[in-house]
Amino acid sequence: MILSTHFVFGMAVASQTDSRLLMPALSLASHFLLDRIPHWEYLDNAKQIKNNFHLVFLDLLSPTIVSCLFFYWGWINFETLFWLNLGGFFAILPDGIVFLRYITKSKNIWLKKFFNFHRKNHTLVDLNKYWGIITQVFIIFLSVGLIFIAKNIGMG
Ligand SMILES: [Zn+2]
Repeated sequence: MILSTHFVFGMAVASQTDSRLLMPALSLASHFLLDRIPHWEYLDNAKQIKNNFHLVFLDLLSPTIVSCLFFYWGWINFETLFWLNLGGFFAILPDGIVFLRYITKSKNIWLKKFFNFHRKNHTLVDLNKYWGIITQVFIIFLSVGLIFIAKNIGMG
């Protein structure tokens, strides 16, 4: 899954709970759930990040930028903006930890364990670009829908 899909799904999870305990746990768990779905990614491996940095950056920041627009337009208050983005943060954290291990070339045993856990939980099935984009657009639409109907945000 691309980062924005993970991030927006994490925002959707956060939109459904006020609990400071449940939210991080469920957002984090959502990462592994989405990784199990056969999907498509615009990069094949971490080595390509260096040459596609602008793409990764855009992918990473677009949900935050869009949610800031929602705040600017008065659709959500600051507390909600922060809460949703925190959910997004937890939802991409596993990829962040994997990336950390990659750039630091760390031999840390916990990082290695986490890296293996992440890989083991990841689907081995790659979708082609066409179906890959359709499924992720669907997940993003579903997530935005969940955010809009969330009662604790009061947008619906
Ligand atoms: Zn992942």
